[in-house]
Amino acid sequence: ASNPQRLTGDKPAIDAFIDKFDIFLFDCDGVLWSGDHLFPGTVETLELLRSKGKKIVFVTNNSTKSRADYQKKLTSLGIPSNVDEIFASAYSSAIYIARIMKLPAPKNKVYVIGEAGIETELRSEGVEFIGGTDPAYRRDITPEDYKNMADGSMLDENVGIVLAGLDFHINYLKLALGYQYLARGAKFLATNTDSTLPSNHSFFPGAGSISIPLVNMTGQKPIALGKPSQAMMDSIEGKFQFDRKTACMVGDRLDTDIKFGLEGKLGGTLAVLTGVMKKEQWEEQGAEVVPHYYVEKLNKISAGIED
Ligand code: PLP
Ligand code: CA
Repeated sequence: ASNPQRLTGDKPAIDAFIDKFDIFLFDCDGVLWSGDHLFPGTVETLELLRSKGKKIVFVTNNSTKSRADYQKKLTSLGIPSNVDEIFASAYSSAIYIARIMKLPAPKNKVYVIGEAGIETELRSEGVEFIGGTDPAYRRDITPEDYKNMADGSMLDENVGIVLAGLDFHINYLKLALGYQYLARGAKFLATNTDSTLPSNHSFFPGAGSISIPLVNMTGQKPIALGKPSQAMMDSIEGKFQFDRKTACMVGDRLDTDIKFGLEGKLGGTLAVLTGVMKKEQWEEQGAEVVPHYYVEKLNKISAGIED
């Protein structure tokens, strides 16, 4: 691991940095905004990159939202975007299932543990699914359920994939069904494996904490479709078709965003220090994940603010 280059507001250095890349992958919360607070320089930085013909992709692990939902969030914060620039883990999962796994019919149905964003994206890719927000799954388990799961009569024999994301209605019945499908050979996917979910108030259970009971029951780990999983990088590359050497990942977390870019062998990774990351993390002796570049705030890039 070598020392990252610090980007100051020096205009020629900023231009040289930008010129190295054709495409910028942006983590959102902690980089462009925090909660509902838009950081200064966000809109200007994106505008600067666009004016230089750079492609922008918003990459988020948030599995509860579809691309359209996420675009609404960007719009509400005043960030211009196109729905095609948004890559969230629900969409990433749908792309992976439909375009990379391509399980042959009929055993290619997905059993979903998760919210509406996942369903919207599976539908957009023409993937059949059961579970999800269907009220039939939001109930207590019954004695008949145990029997009907054991003899298979309650199971859809076309389910070939179990996809687990953040589900605000997780219950015993949903987990039991997930286990039954996995035990019968279904492939195990997770939208993302974030242990917790940051909010303005505290941390709450993340999508990774929904799939863990299934990991515990089966001894299997899911293929994860969020950062830092390279399955997500493959999905992004599958959609946008770019040369990884000309791509830069921008993020505020070493263990998800920067690791994602480094393992994907992108030409650049830029750490922005307005989120959870501290310089000390990569300055620690033996630190394995070290960004190529870092900047204290995004507005150094747009405004050319000298120190
Ligand atoms: N999952 C959910 C449900 C979230 O709301 C968020 C952040 O808002 C995340 C995951 C983390 O997403 P990101 O990769 O954009 O930091
Ligand atoms: Ca983030």
